Amino acid sequence: MKKKTAITTAVGVVLFAALIIFDAVQPRFYSSSFFSMNTYCSAEVESKNPEKNLAEIQDIVEKLDLEILSRSAENSVVYNLNKNGESVLDAETSEYFSLLADISKQSGGAFDFTLGAVSDLWGFGTEPSVPDKTVLDDALSHSGYEKVALSGNKITLGDKNAVVDFGASGKGIALDSIRSYLDTQKIKRSVISVGGSVLLYGKGDFTVGIRDPKGSPSSIASIKTESTCVSTSGNYERYFEADGKRYHHILNPETGYPVENGLVSVTVISESGLLSDALSTACFVLGIEEGTALAEHYGAKVIFITDKNIIYTDSETESMLSVIDQNYRLAETE
Ligand code: ADP
Ligand code: MG
Repeated sequence: MKKKTAITTAVGVVLFAALIIFDAVQPRFYSSSFFSMNTYCSAEVESKNPEKNLAEIQDIVEKLDLEILSRSAENSVVYNLNKNGESVLDAETSEYFSLLADISKQSGGAFDFTLGAVSDLWGFGTEPSVPDKTVLDDALSHSGYEKVALSGNKITLGDKNAVVDFGASGKGIALDSIRSYLDTQKIKRSVISVGGSVLLYGKGDFTVGIRDPKGSPSSIASIKTESTCVSTSGNYERYFEADGKRYHHILNPETGYPVENGLVSVTVISESGLLSDALSTACFVLGIEEGTALAEHYGAKVIFITDKNIIYTDSETESMLSVIDQNYRLAETE
């Protein structure tokens, strides 16, 4: 009997010691980069098992793209929807669609997730050229977010030639999926970028830069914030020049041509990755006044930069902002 107790105690002590040693493993910092969703992604993680976390983060982005959002990956949800004109969605994907439809409606159509055929004609990312006006008008006549009907988990395209495109929101959706994963892990801090969208995760403050809209790799300003998502849309991301004119990839859904309103970059800060990404595009199209109202509607913060190097934002967001490049200045606030 005594021997049994001694053994039990010994086992208990060993287990306890093992637990202490296990818990004493200190969080380590690791980073990685990869290419997915047609863009560069980078991930930094401070956790007890960062190698595993980084591999799983990459997996999440790749799966989301291949299985749901990609227009070109055969058998993705969006591929099948564009091919068949209808699809049955899982609960999460229906939520993305209904939020995108809401943003489209609230922006008066300035945001339109059915512009795929129109942006294809411009060939950004492949062989860009100015499309023929009649062909462009025809593609435009088949697009329009109001042609998409969502009923329960079934989605239908009212026009078989409309092409659903998550180009303006997929990167933010990836950040939301990654955050859900990070919540299930013991992560101290993490910074993830998928193209121009960044997730800042963990306790304490983070500093994130706003890229130079003229295309240099440096930041022209920095934002100090707690955990959130930050997305920037700029006319310097994908563009080409023809006949001395510059054409970029953010399109005015009314004309099918690149937006020309004096803006060069729009940054949106929101807890939701989808909102930060989609709203940065929507606010770019809408311009300063209407864009500010739209961001406010969704409780998001927005920073506009014009081609005159002037930064427009509200006073609360201004207090989070430091201008680094002295060629840029904050607009006078009334
Ligand atoms: P990036 O792709 O550089 O991150 P955005 O998030 O601003 O930039 O998304 C731009 C992409 O969104 C375009 O490449 C195109 O696929 C799509 N797009 C262009 N104009 C619009 C629009 N008005 N509404 C919704 N999507 C758009
Ligand atoms: Mg966007």
